[in-house]
Amino acid sequence: MTDRVFNFSPGPATLPYEVLQKAGKDVVNFQETGIGLIEISHRSKEFMSVADEAEANLRELMQIPDNYKVLFLQGGASSQFFMIPMNFLGEGKKATYLNTGTWAKKAIKEAKLFGEIDVPYSSEEASFNRVPKQDEYTVAEDSEYLYYVSNNTIYGTEFPELPKTDKMLISDMSSDILSRPVDVSKFGLIFAGAQKNLGPAGVTVVIIREDLLEKTPANTPTMLSYKTHADKGSMFNTPPCFSIYVVGEVLKWLKQQGGIDAMAKINREKAALLYGAIDSSDYYRGHAEKESRSLMNIAFNLPTPELEAKFIAEAAAVDLNGLKGHRSIGGCRASIYNAFPVEGVVKLVEFMKDFKAKNPAA
Ligand SMILES: *Cc1c(COP(=O)(O)O)cnc(C)c1O
Repeated sequence: MTDRVFNFSPGPATLPYEVLQKAGKDVVNFQETGIGLIEISHRSKEFMSVADEAEANLRELMQIPDNYKVLFLQGGASSQFFMIPMNFLGEGKKATYLNTGTWAKKAIKEAKLFGEIDVPYSSEEASFNRVPKQDEYTVAEDSEYLYYVSNNTIYGTEFPELPKTDKMLISDMSSDILSRPVDVSKFGLIFAGAQKNLGPAGVTVVIIREDLLEKTPANTPTMLSYKTHADKGSMFNTPPCFSIYVVGEVLKWLKQQGGIDAMAKINREKAALLYGAIDSSDYYRGHAEKESRSLMNIAFNLPTPELEAKFIAEAAAVDLNGLKGHRSIGGCRASIYNAFPVEGVVKLVEFMKDFKAKNPAA
């Protein structure tokens, strides 16, 4: 493992080493078929069982109720921004969105193409440094759903609990799915692009309540209707076989780690180490307000942009990679998803102490 560094990249992001090694082997010769995993038919019994097992493990880990379908779709998480309103809204229909960052804003823009969109909360003026508390917004009575981004990857904020509403919830969980327990039965739909916390880019997991499959307007293109993919078990057309396979391996790995509760505990510990380092002085400043802090993406600043650039470069030189913050807020960001090892966080915390001592603020 000596050729690997600690990779804090926000996505695509670090994956379990064991999974990568197995994938490398299977790409060449899958289950002794003499055929590589990315060469084998998606309708072969070998690949069908990969997809079935991935779904079964996701259902088990998230305790997904039987009246929900699991879909493996393409087009990235960003395609869900339009698929959701395209399938559930239309002339005269309304939905409510919470504006907590770039990904929420992009979803709002697309939703407006298909219905009347209410945005009762935005933290944009405060550089999206927080998510709302329950009493900071109201959901219009005639809303079809309440949409929110559970973890705001760029700004390092995360909803500490589910928004309270009697409307159906829809959530973009791209950057925190499987990092903590969620009650799926509270949702109409959950989606996540795989490349943050689940696997490689190329597949988006959608968990959708079955009754919603009937809502799609008749003039919706076949490929963009959830029902098409639900009816065909995500095999209406060729699915992203490699990405589904890696997601499946990551899910097996998660089970070996003890499942979501065990993972959530480790995630809390990792984040506590880093926030502890940030809070121990004024040198490092967290971007997010304390009550909105993400356990997955930790965005912080140093006293000056010059020190930030030096910090990122010197960290990379000791194999702490990918710490540059998103261009919209600058600074630094450590993404520490499920597969990111504790040792890497410990090493970063030591580096932070050391850097602060050697580079005092002017
Ligand atoms: C990365 C990200 C997206 C966009 O994902 P793509 O697969 O690139 O479209 C959407 N939402 C959140 C929360 C993200 O972190």
